[in-house]
Amino acid sequence: MAVTIYYEQDCNPEIIKNKKIAVIGYGSQGHAHALNLKDSGCDVRVGLREGSKSIEAAREAGLKVVDMASAAAEADLIMILVPDELQPEIYEQYIAPNLNAGDTLAFAHGFNIHYGYITPPEDVNVIMCAPKGPGHIVRRQYTEGSGVPDLICVAQDATGDAWDVALSYAWGVGGARAGVIKATFKEETEEDLFGEQAVLCGGLVELVKAGFETLVDAGYPPELAYFECYHEMKMIVDLMYESGIHFMNYSISNTAEYGEYYAGPKVINEQSREAMREILARIQDGSFAEEFVNDCKCGHKWLIEQREAINDHEIEKTGEKIRGMFSWIS
Ligand code: NAD
Ligand code: MG
Ligand code: MG
Repeated sequence: MAVTIYYEQDCNPEIIKNKKIAVIGYGSQGHAHALNLKDSGCDVRVGLREGSKSIEAAREAGLKVVDMASAAAEADLIMILVPDELQPEIYEQYIAPNLNAGDTLAFAHGFNIHYGYITPPEDVNVIMCAPKGPGHIVRRQYTEGSGVPDLICVAQDATGDAWDVALSYAWGVGGARAGVIKATFKEETEEDLFGEQAVLCGGLVELVKAGFETLVDAGYPPELAYFECYHEMKMIVDLMYESGIHFMNYSISNTAEYGEYYAGPKVINEQSREAMREILARIQDGSFAEEFVNDCKCGHKWLIEQREAINDHEIEKTGEKIRGMFSWIS
């Protein structure tokens, strides 16, 4: 095994239970970390800006809420869970002035540390605990007694026990119930960006869209194209996720399996693989990060244009209509 995986018995819960934790932000990851840590018996406060819509939600969920600077000042472990593009500014303004020697600064994605947009002082720990799943699943699985696996990383070990702190934090959010994988900031950042761009989000959405458009352009009803290229995706992925590609292949017909081997490499061909290598190179040399940060500085101009285009696409309109007509999705 090329990676080290830890489980609950490898973690010392006392480390995280004895720290004052600040979770900055209460979005997808923020609410999950704060609530899971609280339910694990940890001392948590959520740091939010004045007027934030999340203040009430966090208080109603039984959490202590303070402003971001006070949260950072009170805590000796500060987990930053605001959007990546806002982190440098929030760090400079509210967190950096409130860091003490021996504190731990924590992230759920390595973007700002790896690309150098945040440079913490040398006397603090810099760790990561990155759940490998969306925040709402991190919370749901914790309440159901299971957990989403975490990656843990250490960029700076000022106190000598930063790995134990990261492991204990992973215990607190429930990741150790599933498995905690040791990695580096570089590996997490580059693999995470590549996965979401080439496969999980970018690749998947474009594949579904291209299949849908090919059928519709050839005169097939959009509703049928939606079922074939979009709706059935989840069932195929579920079979792969639960029991492997071989089991998915066993469950589908021989006709479908033959078609898989015949057509797959024609669609994801050498040109697609070359594009993937280029995408990875732009992640590794920092040019993707720079492009993203520049678009953020322009008020997300490009991002918002793209978001509006997919929201207006016929596939989304078809999906909305179909999901409203069938009873299995509420
Ligand atoms: P999000 O967009 O869901 O939540 C951001 C939260 O930050 C908001 O709810 C709000 O509380 C706060 N916020 C927003 N704007 C603010 C501002 N101007 N000033 C102060 N606070 C503000 O963010 P997220 O998707 O949970 O991402 C947080 C971190 O977790 C990122 O580093 C991300 O890469 C990482 N991550 C996210 C996921 C995920 O499931 N979304 C998975 C793994 C890692
Ligand atoms: Mg990601
Ligand atoms: Mg079929």
